[in-house]
Amino acid sequence: MPQYQAVKGTRDIFPEEVARWKYVEGVVDAQASLYGFSEIRIPVFEYTELFQRGIGSTTDIVGKEMFTFQPDPKGRSLTLRPEMTAGVMRAAIQNNLLASAPVHKLYYMGELFRKERPQAGRQRQFSQFGAELLGVSSPAAVAEVITLMMEVFRSLGLQRLKLRINSLGDADDRLRYRVALQNYFSPFADILDDASKERLEKNPLRILDSKNPALQELIAGAPKLYEYLSEASVQDFEKVLFYLKERTIAFDIDHRLVRGLDYYCNTAFEVTSSELGAQDAIGGGGRYDGLARELGSSTDVPAVGFAVGMERLLMTMEKQALFDVVAPQAPLVYVVVQQQELADHALQMVCRLRNASIKTEIDLAARSMKAQMREANRIKASYALFVGATELTTGLYSLKNLATSEQTMLTLEALLELLGESAAGMQLQP
Ligand code: AMP
Repeated sequence: MPQYQAVKGTRDIFPEEVARWKYVEGVVDAQASLYGFSEIRIPVFEYTELFQRGIGSTTDIVGKEMFTFQPDPKGRSLTLRPEMTAGVMRAAIQNNLLASAPVHKLYYMGELFRKERPQAGRQRQFSQFGAELLGVSSPAAVAEVITLMMEVFRSLGLQRLKLRINSLGDADDRLRYRVALQNYFSPFADILDDASKERLEKNPLRILDSKNPALQELIAGAPKLYEYLSEASVQDFEKVLFYLKERTIAFDIDHRLVRGLDYYCNTAFEVTSSELGAQDAIGGGGRYDGLARELGSSTDVPAVGFAVGMERLLMTMEKQALFDVVAPQAPLVYVVVQQQELADHALQMVCRLRNASIKTEIDLAARSMKAQMREANRIKASYALFVGATELTTGLYSLKNLATSEQTMLTLEALLELLGESAAGMQLQP
């Protein structure tokens, strides 16, 4: 076994797979831009307090999953970002973004870090793309964010995804509900597991999130949040559902959906794929009107957003055989050097072709002609272009079509024209 291994929960992504990532990222860019979202890039680490305040100290993420470090004994504690929303909101407040325009539509892609137990679909370094709509969280804004997320999935050809949606109510609704849950669970305190016992005091809503099979019956009988929603919250939720129906976006209302982060209010949603196994959530999000104040903003910043896990999205696409459409990255021309004395001349030819935007390869290891031809076929080049003494004296180059074995003699000018056209043709492929 090699001496150095990638850290558990991290992985390498090799070129063939990177092509798939870029394809998905391209679709995200295109859809986000269509919906008027611009990309933001924020630091990979922040002061730890940002996440403690922004995500909530009773959540699993802050309680046990953060990679926290102290750069020097006197330095403030820092944490590798476990999610993006707190950082995006911090950036918006710090730079007074909302003073320049009342609404900001931002999207992002990037790596996140959570100290979770690695398993299929769960890593310690993983990637998300997502969007945040800051400054308004009307039902239309919520529907816009959900629609963008679902349109990315649709453009990628994904099928059989399930969108679940719920209303968590506003702050007052949740306060009343919290008391109701405490009253319900308290008499059963001895049968609760340790995590749920702790949540009973600090954040009883999170007991509903428990996956412990022994508690499922008790949880099923718990008071339902929707019974505690105010009239305004109900109307807000109905309007979101109305917009989704209008856009023929299928959903299931799931009153048990609460999501792990503290800052959500009103609409919350999650998308799952039955093809993923235990870690079946591809993405989710919701409204988080309270976050900005929590992070020290002097004004309210209503907001709504979503985040999608790239690895799980790619896994689902693979299961659904959606990558056949990604064009291979084969070069158009492989320049074959017939005599090594002409290698420099051949390299000049490679430069000329590349300057004309023609994807060209050449052997850099002075290998035999046979080896060069083998390599040209292995990497699936369309043509082999021979550089030899005859070519130099006559100014005519022989070009072999590697699919048909047809060979033609061409002047440099004709060659550039033919290959230039082929290169343009290649770019038209999906
Ligand atoms: P969350 O921020 O927890 O709502 O996660 C949003 C999405 O990110 C999830 O639906 C997953 O697709 C993905 N995700 C979250 N945690 C991990 C992880 N540890 N490894 C891989 N993907 C993850």
